[in-house]
Amino acid sequence: MSKATGELSPAAAAARRIAAERPRLEFGGAVWDYAPAPEATDHVRLARRYDLFVGGEFVAPRSKRRFATINPATEEPLAEVAEAGAADVDAAVEAAERAYRRHWSRLSGAERGKYLYRIARLIQEKARELAIVETMDGGKPIKEARDVDVPLAAAHFFYHAGWADKLEYAFPGRAGRTPRPLGVCGQIIPWNFPLLMAAWKLAPALACGNTVVLKPAETTPLTALKLAEILREAELPPGVVNIVTGAGETGAHLVNHPKVAKIAFTGSTEVGKLIQRAVAGSGKRLTLELGGKAANIVFADAAIDQAVEGIVNGIYFNQGHVCCAGSRLLVEEGIADELLAKLAWRIEQLRVGDPLDKNTDVGAINSKQQLDKIRELTQSGVDEGATLHQSSCPLPAKGYFFPPTFFSGVAQSHRIAREEIFGPVLAVMTFRTPDEAIEKANNLAYGLSAGVWTDKGAKIFAMTRRLRAGVVWANTFNKFDPTSPFGGYKESGFGREGGVHGLEAYVELG
Ligand code: ADP
Repeated sequence: MSKATGELSPAAAAARRIAAERPRLEFGGAVWDYAPAPEATDHVRLARRYDLFVGGEFVAPRSKRRFATINPATEEPLAEVAEAGAADVDAAVEAAERAYRRHWSRLSGAERGKYLYRIARLIQEKARELAIVETMDGGKPIKEARDVDVPLAAAHFFYHAGWADKLEYAFPGRAGRTPRPLGVCGQIIPWNFPLLMAAWKLAPALACGNTVVLKPAETTPLTALKLAEILREAELPPGVVNIVTGAGETGAHLVNHPKVAKIAFTGSTEVGKLIQRAVAGSGKRLTLELGGKAANIVFADAAIDQAVEGIVNGIYFNQGHVCCAGSRLLVEEGIADELLAKLAWRIEQLRVGDPLDKNTDVGAINSKQQLDKIRELTQSGVDEGATLHQSSCPLPAKGYFFPPTFFSGVAQSHRIAREEIFGPVLAVMTFRTPDEAIEKANNLAYGLSAGVWTDKGAKIFAMTRRLRAGVVWANTFNKFDPTSPFGGYKESGFGREGGVHGLEAYVELG
């Protein structure tokens, strides 16, 4: 400050301006400064503050509440995001309802398809930026965001764009029935595949002529907001898709809104049950994709090295934050020692660390809360008497990380064999006969996915017929494709997403 005049020098004024433009964020009881973008994130445009996407515009939340979204690999905030309250959700549903009535439901399927193709192509064009933002916000390795999440998100829009003008042929055996859209769909998605889940939910809803209010998870809102920018660029009519950020309370407002015709939810079984209770008797349509505890079953006649790769991919892909993860390994007794020795060697080779490094295999755990849950369940495995095997890889000093882990000597009664850990922790059990494998695989309340590894085709068919799982992979694991339906049995939910089966959830037939 200049003593003579009492005015700020130009440099001091600039410093004060910059400080004012870098507001401090409060999150989880701590106060943070904004982090500078790391070099690897050049060309990524992240705003400091994101509003809600309602009626085709970014609008400040009426709730006046905001929260920070954190990079779990650095524990530093990336941006500040709006927290939608009841009035905000109401505005979003009204915008979706207007867009449905006035525009989207009247458009021909061919016209709707054109928008979806355009969105798919824009996702491809912006793939690099989307992958980096996904990795920074969620912690997944960049090679997965780049090679799996973003291309699959585009593929979902391409696939459903193709259906938009062919819906009358989508339901064979129900000839003469014209599929009609439902209206406004409320879609609530989790944090493990943020962009992909948004695409997975939006594309079929829009193809079938519905409009949407989408709520991303509170720890990973950024790629949905990037997608909002893409929707604007694609000139999607205002209100056809609205995006409200926030946590469970925001989701509950959406679930309970009287003008919402359908809820599509992916998340925990616990919240899925709450939602099921909330919509009971309301006439709302509902699909739920919930938790899982998949059995990955390896027979003695399987190609062992290939099976080990499938086991690794089944449980360590995306740090095990996968509802269909192969989190229980059932291995035929005669090959158990050999297979576990190979697995123990293989997890030592996995590179754990900076998710933005393209050589990283296992990135950051999505949040401190999730890390605590993984630690607690892992400790329960030790306490209950299973044998711990853990990679000795060094973990970064900062950020939420957990080493690739498996337990041998696991009993079916152990918590690690029954509860969804949603982390890089595998519970290994053995079996002697196919009947025993089936019995163990089916003995939980979950039924989302399973894997079978064997040299014998007949054995694959015999097993898949008896496994109570919505998806069964044979000699592979965690393979996704927009043409194949995905969904569960029992407490893993109901309804199917993807493929022609997934369209049915978004239309009225008759
Ligand atoms: P996870 O345990 O994997 O975080 P959740 O089921 O808690 O899964 O979260 C999945 C999604 O559901 C998130 O978008 C979250 O904000 C939302 N959600 C959480 N609680 C509720 C609720 N009571 N009603 C509606 N949505 C909710």
